[in-house]
Amino acid sequence: MTDLVADLAERVDRLLAEHPPQETDRWDFLRARYDAGLAWVHYPEGLGGLGRESAHQQAVDARLAAAGAPDNRPAGNVIGLGMAAPVIRTYATAEQQQSWLRPLWTGEEIWCQLFSEPGAGSDLAAAGASARRDGDAWVVNGQKVWTSLAHDARWALLLVRTDPTLPKHAGLSFFVLDMLTAGVDVRPLRQMTGEAEFNEVYLDDVRVPDANRLGEVGEGWRVTQATLMNERVAIGGGVGDRESGAIADVARRWRSEPSARRPELHDELLRRWIDAESLRLASARFAQKAEAGTPGPDGSGLKLAFATLAQETSSLSVALDGAEGLRYDDWSLRRPDFSNPEQRVSGFDYLRTRANSIEGGTSEVLRSIISERVLGLPAEPRVDKDIPWKDLAK
Ligand SMILES: Cc1cc2nc3c(=O)[nH]c(=O)nc-3n(C[C@H](O)[C@H](O)[C@H](O)COP(=O)(O)OP(=O)(O)OC[C@H]3O[C@@H](n4cnc5c(N)ncnc54)[C@H](O)[C@@H]3O)c2cc1C
Repeated sequence: MTDLVADLAERVDRLLAEHPPQETDRWDFLRARYDAGLAWVHYPEGLGGLGRESAHQQAVDARLAAAGAPDNRPAGNVIGLGMAAPVIRTYATAEQQQSWLRPLWTGEEIWCQLFSEPGAGSDLAAAGASARRDGDAWVVNGQKVWTSLAHDARWALLLVRTDPTLPKHAGLSFFVLDMLTAGVDVRPLRQMTGEAEFNEVYLDDVRVPDANRLGEVGEGWRVTQATLMNERVAIGGGVGDRESGAIADVARRWRSEPSARRPELHDELLRRWIDAESLRLASARFAQKAEAGTPGPDGSGLKLAFATLAQETSSLSVALDGAEGLRYDDWSLRRPDFSNPEQRVSGFDYLRTRANSIEGGTSEVLRSIISERVLGLPAEPRVDKDIPWKDLAK
């Protein structure tokens, strides 16, 4: 163990010596870090990793951060890193992994997720965007909605219906779509913060090579499930240090601003602090599970707890602000600036965190998953699962 840690430290030092961060272009540094296997150490050699345990990553990150090295995360590629990467690792060919994973990790290529449709959100298996085989490609038509980052994305994870005569879960297939393909039309949708993080995306005779299919034809639901499980862990499972993230801001203000303190908020603060710590420890366990393969349905509990905690902590932050907390008045349509999260005020967070219990599966749906697939309670009646999709009411 000690040898492995020393070996990693040596590799980091070699990278820093060969590519001094202060004199190296940001992208060049990140590419060199990937090639040195220090991007995600638990990935295989040649794909940004060294086949080590992910627990070693923190030490690598800390050593690089202390040397002033650039980080890949501010690029806002949460879908690429959290969802696309594990699915590519499981389902893509070696050649596809070589070509997609490096620019994904560095953030040079952003990924989005074309799953939800106007008629298929919680009931995602009802998705109706169609793909018709044409030689060595598929021709895709339909509409997707709530697509985060589609305006920045080079690649999309795409769920489509390849056989409408089969029951809904069976007739789906899963592709990687180049967002620069002719026929892809991305239009902004504004959220209640004013920001347009997401979009509606129209697909009009879009050609996708069959070579970009992940999984077999008709196996799209299995690949989608794997993506969603990873999404829930990615949203709910950020493992920071103790007292980091939203709770850190509230705790810091409590300590430094005596005028903001009120007895009833003290109790609230302690409860949220304990919730945050419990979630952080649970996240660490889930992150290790996820790296060993696809996380199971119990990751839904993590995302559910995260959404509740984020909403309650942002409410506490607004309460600490007093009357000021009610003031938020920038509803101008704009794209989010992920590089500068400090700009955000508590009123913004209060509004943005409402979406936490919708995105990546609503809290109601996650509770059903936990009750049925984790606790083994009786399943909800599902009358449509054996009927051909084309015969379902739309
Ligand atoms: C900020 C944000 C970002 C998003 N980004 C993406 C993205 O990048 N890509 C993408 O594909 N999608 C994205 N989504 C979409 C998201 O996955 C869906 O909004 C979500 O799955 C709910 O679907 P829906 O909006 O169609 O609501 P519906 O499914 O119509 O649900 C409406 C209400 O009914 C409840 N409900 C529905 N079915 C059940 C049930 N069986 N039992 C109990 N209650 C039920 C829901 O909980 C909800 O309260 C994003 C959403 C948000 C808010």
